[in-house]
Amino acid sequence: MCNQCALKPVYVTLNHQKLCKQCYIQYFEKKVFKTLRSYKLIEDTDIIVCGLSGGKDSITTAYLLQKYLAKSRRNVLALLIDEGIKGYRSKTLRDAEEFCKEHAIPLTVVSYIQEFGISLDNLLKKSNKKPCTPCGILRRYMLNKYARKLKATKLAVGHNLDDEAQTLLMNQTKGNMKLSAKLGPITGVLAHDMFVRRIKPLYFMTEKEVTLYAYVKEFPITFIECPYFKLNFRYQIGNMLNDLETLYPGSKQGIINSFLHTLPLLKKTYKHEEIGTCATCKEPATKEKCKTCELLKR
Ligand code: SF4
Ligand code: ZN
Repeated sequence: MCNQCALKPVYVTLNHQKLCKQCYIQYFEKKVFKTLRSYKLIEDTDIIVCGLSGGKDSITTAYLLQKYLAKSRRNVLALLIDEGIKGYRSKTLRDAEEFCKEHAIPLTVVSYIQEFGISLDNLLKKSNKKPCTPCGILRRYMLNKYARKLKATKLAVGHNLDDEAQTLLMNQTKGNMKLSAKLGPITGVLAHDMFVRRIKPLYFMTEKEVTLYAYVKEFPITFIECPYFKLNFRYQIGNMLNDLETLYPGSKQGIINSFLHTLPLLKKTYKHEEIGTCATCKEPATKEKCKTCELLKR
């Protein structure tokens, strides 16, 4: 029975608290709103754009931001990047449109074809890279550029605790702690006025928790995966972390907690990165050309 109201439980927390559907919704929302407040992810004058993919994480993020901002009579804006992935993006785009319509969230859709003249599917035919590498570079570029066009001061993304633990381990295995200095609930090592800071409201929620929340809230989600996802290093790291979590519950949370202790030190170590402007597209870049222009040239 639920520890708070004696109804049938749908979830058991790490400290063995049983929660029914309503109590779970409250637990989840309270924890996300606490993250927003304790890490000062949103300030009074902020304009928030949420990167929407139509999946459970970004839809949950947009929904909760809309709820949070409604208290100060503000609205969240949504931005969806259509990469051009056959059989996948059209379905999630429909979910995103339905969700935004139902919750009166203005949605902007931009695509790789419009921006770069090529879909991800066609780009991959010409590249020997794993799909997520070019896809990630192009998506980050477009999210930043179009969030700025929408006058965003913060870009909210749907990264959850599992995503963050995976990214951290991926950086560790590559020996690249400089990249980890950019992680955390709010990004901000790179100082450039054309970079929109990213916030992660779901930072402390596990993938399992977000899935359950999206399910009990009955969001219009198809729950499909990108066909390229399993070719990704992240997929293997994710499986490894899930095995670890099964054997030692709380491992993912432990990884994130210890990372957050070392983050101030990492930020201090890597704070002096010089950022200029890309010679080709005039977007921010650490070299003469930004990663996107380099990739498209290749
Ligand atoms: Fe792009 Fe990889 Fe995500 Fe698919 S799984 S949308 S290829 S980053
Ligand atoms: Zn460029």
